[in-house]
Amino acid sequence: MNAQNRSGADALACETPYGQRSLDAREYARIWRSGAAHAAVSLADEHGGWESAKKSKTAAIRTCAWLDACAKEAKTLRLPLFGALTGGEHAEVREECSRRVAERDDDVVGYALSGFFAGEDVSTRGACVEASLKHIPSEKPRYLSGTTTVEDIVDNIDRGVDVFDASWASETAQRGRAFCFPVDEEDDEMEAEDAESRATSGSDAYSINIWSTSYKTDFTPFIRGDRCRCPACAEHTRAYVHHLLQAHEMTADVLLEAHNLYHIAAFFAAARRAIRCGRWQEFAAFHRAYAQRARET
Ligand SMILES: [Zn+2]
Repeated sequence: MNAQNRSGADALACETPYGQRSLDAREYARIWRSGAAHAAVSLADEHGGWESAKKSKTAAIRTCAWLDACAKEAKTLRLPLFGALTGGEHAEVREECSRRVAERDDDVVGYALSGFFAGEDVSTRGACVEASLKHIPSEKPRYLSGTTTVEDIVDNIDRGVDVFDASWASETAQRGRAFCFPVDEEDDEMEAEDAESRATSGSDAYSINIWSTSYKTDFTPFIRGDRCRCPACAEHTRAYVHHLLQAHEMTADVLLEAHNLYHIAAFFAAARRAIRCGRWQEFAAFHRAYAQRARET
């Protein structure tokens, strides 16, 4: 559902596949129940980042009021709730929202940074994430949705974000692409392996384009050398999945998504290991250097 700019004090205006709807906390809780949710994020009055500070402030105050209403519903359902943090592209508004939401710490199990990776000015993103987290207690998880690059994830772990979603992995699979980027420093032989075929296949340093006829007779798994233990790489080849894509077989999406989710889970496992072992700075530097090389080639 996409929030529009017609939200009122009590409800969020949404565009849905069934037309426009007005969503208040009670109706939102009905969606949690019908979807058997394990956790929820409070309603956020989010809008285009280009809106004025005044409008962003009104939206942030409204988001805090909706958090109170959502907390009552979540308490009734005994559902863990994440408090939404808004403020558009205005760091001072985001900081004020962070302070107000942090005052409701007893009502939430964590915090959700709302309105990022949604077409905002990239140059404001870092300062706005930091402002949103300024008053948030470090003991509770901070969730950021919408990241689409390893570099974004690394940068935001550095800023204090703990939780990311995996929609990037699924969306990449839906485009017929399999992740191939190294998960850590010990894994960087992957880079050289596919470099040759990138120019002609539409592949890049992060994913290989299985739609390409370059893979029509490539009888190796998405990641070679037994380095990926996902069900797709264990049993199938690039050529087979290329054939499935050409035949519009749904199994292609299933195999690509299985691989991409496995791969991104391996990346996050490597990130957690690096933090635990005190190697985070080296891990982050490796991925930033890899991203830089990818931009230059
Ligand atoms: Zn795999």
